[in-house]
Amino acid sequence: MDHYGKHFIAVIGGSVAGSEAAFILAEKGYRVVVFDQKKLPYGKIEDGLPCWHIGLRNKEEAAIDQRLAHENVRFVPGFTLGKDATVHELLNEWGFSVVIIAIGAWHDRKIAVDGIEKYYNNGVVKQNDLVYWFNHKHEPGYNGPQYKVINNTAIVGGGLASLDMVKIVMIELVQAALAARKGITVDIFTLEKKGIAATLEEHNISLEELGVEPCTLIYRRDAEDMPLYPRKKQTPEGIAQARKVSKKLLDNYLAKYMFKFIPRSVAKAIIEEDNTFKGMTFQRVDIVDGKLVERAGDTFDFRTGLLISSIGSLPKETPGLPIDGNMLRTYGEFGCRVEGFDNVFAVGNVATGRGNILESRKHGRMVTDRIIDEHLEPGQADPMADKYAELFRTIESDVDRKIGSIEETLTHSPVHSDEEITFILQKTKELQQRVGYDGHYLKWVEQHRPPRLEDMPAGQK
Ligand SMILES: Cc1cc2nc3c(=O)[nH]c(=O)nc-3n(C[C@H](O)[C@H](O)[C@H](O)COP(=O)(O)OP(=O)(O)OC[C@H]3O[C@@H](n4cnc5c(N)ncnc54)[C@H](O)[C@@H]3O)c2cc1C
Repeated sequence: MDHYGKHFIAVIGGSVAGSEAAFILAEKGYRVVVFDQKKLPYGKIEDGLPCWHIGLRNKEEAAIDQRLAHENVRFVPGFTLGKDATVHELLNEWGFSVVIIAIGAWHDRKIAVDGIEKYYNNGVVKQNDLVYWFNHKHEPGYNGPQYKVINNTAIVGGGLASLDMVKIVMIELVQAALAARKGITVDIFTLEKKGIAATLEEHNISLEELGVEPCTLIYRRDAEDMPLYPRKKQTPEGIAQARKVSKKLLDNYLAKYMFKFIPRSVAKAIIEEDNTFKGMTFQRVDIVDGKLVERAGDTFDFRTGLLISSIGSLPKETPGLPIDGNMLRTYGEFGCRVEGFDNVFAVGNVATGRGNILESRKHGRMVTDRIIDEHLEPGQADPMADKYAELFRTIESDVDRKIGSIEETLTHSPVHSDEEITFILQKTKELQQRVGYDGHYLKWVEQHRPPRLEDMPAGQK
């Protein structure tokens, strides 16, 4: 066995970032163990990307499969970092040369109003939870959280994902109302692709006749400020173009999905009556030199039984990792090393979060040309799929530029002895056996891939 094969590397999280890091290192001859808390390693692609992105999901999952099926990669499903072992244990008890953290960002950023936690899943729903439910609720034996989307839902946010929340709400409401009131069955894929307005026009019916009150997206800034389009250049022209495209995109969405939009409004206080969530008071703001300034005495109450919080995701607290205020503390070039260790690295969303759009600007420009050309006409595919694809590529380039530091650390760390290698192989096998995984990656993912909504009979999707 050569020098490379005598290093074992642990990667925690097998999705876009983890699989990319594992594959690059495996190709060089290193041996890699990829741990994921779930049976499937697809992270945000399976549980965060709304399930109407069928093509994108399948393509990204196939790419992950191709990387993790590498002969130098061992996959361990059902292993949670911080619960089954800490980083410290992986380094010092298992003896891994390097640990790479690729656990993504799964903690919904909290809306800064007092007492909001009390109403989680009881009036207030977090974006990550809502998409998980939306993507999986059709599966037989689904036992995750159950939600009911209602008229006049409020969505607090303003990014790409908040537009997906709007779509989920409008699609759910209109699909149910068409069926209940008119006996018309339309699947979610048609509603998403055609849009609500075109679907209703086709059936010659209005939202009012259906008894649907649209949802409202409430954003602290203006439509032009929405981060829907990467700023090509920080020049006045670049910024002006980005602002124009964001506004155009939102206008098209408003027309196509028939929701409402309230800009320049910041959540201020929960409205509660008899210990029940009744909505949110918002403070209107001005934007002065890019900063939000409260308009004295200008507030409004948005009364609703459901508010969806969609203001971004942060890394989850994980025992043994320096995650403070839900930020992973890192140091070194590109913030690649995890504080407190010299051989623990962070890649992907756990490290980059919302930032780092820079890398994808070139691609972004191409995508935007398409967005401008196609707008969001009925029947057109959603160009937001391209935006997501762009984010996935951003994550891969984050891995790419950090791999040099990881390799450099490996060249300075001693190779494993044969006993140490046998020990890691044995431990890996034990954990695989614990969940019934026999080491055949492609067979395993095929067995555990959930039934797809698009394959369900008409009337059920
Ligand atoms: C709705 C939505 C919003 C997005 N917003 C952004 C954005 O704002 N910025 C951006 O750059 N990209 C964003 N993206 C793109 C996307 O999230 C990323 O590009 C990509 O999915 C991140 O890949 P990842 O591998 O870092 O994390 P993930 O896809 O989240 O994968 C993390 C993996 O780690 C596993 N894991 C988590 N915790 C543990 C643990 N303790 N132990 C073991 N395994 C664990 C998970 O099961 C999962 O498989 C968004 C995507 C969607 C669908």
